[in-house]
Amino acid sequence: MSEVSQPVLSSSSTPLQRGLLAKYVIVIMIVQLAVMSLVTTIVEHRQRDTILSESLKRAISLASSLAALSESYLVSYNFVKLEQTTEQIAAEEDVAYAIVHTHNGQVAASTGHQGIQGQIPDDPISQKSIHASQRLVQHIETEDLLQGPGYDVAIPVFAQGGTRKWGTVRIGYSLKQAMSEIRKTRRNLIGLSLLALALGTSVAISLSLRISRPIQQLVTGVNEVTKGNYDHHIAVKSRDEVGYLAARFEDMREALRRHITSLAEEKERLEKANSMIIETQQQLIQSEKLAAVGKLSAKVAHEVNNPLAIIKTSLRIVAKTMPDTDPNKENLDIVEEEIGRIARIMKQLLDSARPTTTTISTVQVNEVIRKIMVLAEEDLATHGITCEMTFASDLPKLRLAVDQFKQVLLNLIKNAREAMPHGGTLRLETALQPPEGVSIRVMDTGEGISEEHLQKLFEPFFSTKHNDEGMGLGLSVCQGIIKSFGGIIEVESELGRGTTFHIYLPEYPPSILGETQDTEGYDSEEST
Ligand code: ADP
Repeated sequence: MSEVSQPVLSSSSTPLQRGLLAKYVIVIMIVQLAVMSLVTTIVEHRQRDTILSESLKRAISLASSLAALSESYLVSYNFVKLEQTTEQIAAEEDVAYAIVHTHNGQVAASTGHQGIQGQIPDDPISQKSIHASQRLVQHIETEDLLQGPGYDVAIPVFAQGGTRKWGTVRIGYSLKQAMSEIRKTRRNLIGLSLLALALGTSVAISLSLRISRPIQQLVTGVNEVTKGNYDHHIAVKSRDEVGYLAARFEDMREALRRHITSLAEEKERLEKANSMIIETQQQLIQSEKLAAVGKLSAKVAHEVNNPLAIIKTSLRIVAKTMPDTDPNKENLDIVEEEIGRIARIMKQLLDSARPTTTTISTVQVNEVIRKIMVLAEEDLATHGITCEMTFASDLPKLRLAVDQFKQVLLNLIKNAREAMPHGGTLRLETALQPPEGVSIRVMDTGEGISEEHLQKLFEPFFSTKHNDEGMGLGLSVCQGIIKSFGGIIEVESELGRGTTFHIYLPEYPPSILGETQDTEGYDSEEST
């Protein structure tokens, strides 16, 4: 798959997750803090008011009790009983002091304050209480006996049904307990608020994680696609907007992947087509070269052969008229020999370039090889070459231009012979080659071919042979013929050990052009 240029994007998505998480949690914490502060303040105030009003009620109730109990003792000036009564009330919880004043303000009985018996206290609170004509509650911020804030509740005492004031009873009610109750309530409220805050924050974190996780998966997916990994599946299962966005993105990724795959396939197809065009172009150049050589050879042969024939005939006539003792007779023989050499080179040129017939026959490859070897064996034996043949029996019959095929075999056998000047072994093998085809191997034990020469072996006019022995056209013509059969010819060689030519011929070549009728006795069913 082709690489795609990457836009600059943060590869890590953690900052995004952190940003969202932090925002959610901070906002939720602020809202919680505000709500909890408001609730705590309201509840604390209510509680405080309730506790204070309960305390006040109790203080008034205790003072009223003292007034009720003291009334008769005041009227009868029974100070002992008054003393007992004040002590009884002062024993109640939260009561810091209890005082009974006579009608002129003198202290008749008291608890808490030492040595004020018979005196008229002159402090503002006591003064206000003494002169009160109805119940009076004074709030005291702080007082030693009260050990903090409290109430001074004063109730004037009237004789039953009368209007004459016999005295005043007072109690000092301490709010120490109430205050500690209020503080305790406040502490509990703050504790509860903090607990609620912690719980709320945990819920907010887990909720925001649930929200941000799909976004995180989506971001990871987008990053992978940006990196060119189009196979990365974006698995977001949530059914909300993020899930919908991820599904659309997944569709887009899939479409992109398909598009890129088809582009890659198209590219591969174009590259194949391009290499085929280049190969065909090279084949055309090769064919054109060979065709030009063919034309040139035919022209040269035509132009040179006739004068050569005349020269040869004339030479023979001159030679006949010469006496055998003539010293120039030997020179004439040399001239005739050289003319013969020119004629042979012409023939070789024509043989290589002459287009062979393209008569297509159905042949059994083994049969064609066997026929050729019958003719070649004698010549090979005179050069000290032994022939070995191994044929596969199950070969399919092939349709090919048998003349051209023979030309290929003869050329390979000729080259093998020339590569074994001191004799050797020529081995021919056929075999079935999968998927559908025939493999032919021509192996010799000759001099072999150097690595450097192997590269140029099939090039036209490449030859290592000297004088008139080789034109360097044989193998390039062979390759052209084998390719026209839809086959392949390859070579393996080792210097000093020998050479193997391997031909592969397909059972069904892509196309056989210019098919004509069989003229050589090879037919569709039998071979001769
Ligand atoms: P030519 O035989 O006319 O030189 P070819 O195209 O048939 O032209 O062969 C080209 C060259 O390949 C030969 O000159 C020879 O050097 C080398 N060659 C071909 N076949 C063999 C072989 N069986 N063993 C060694 N060399 C070979």
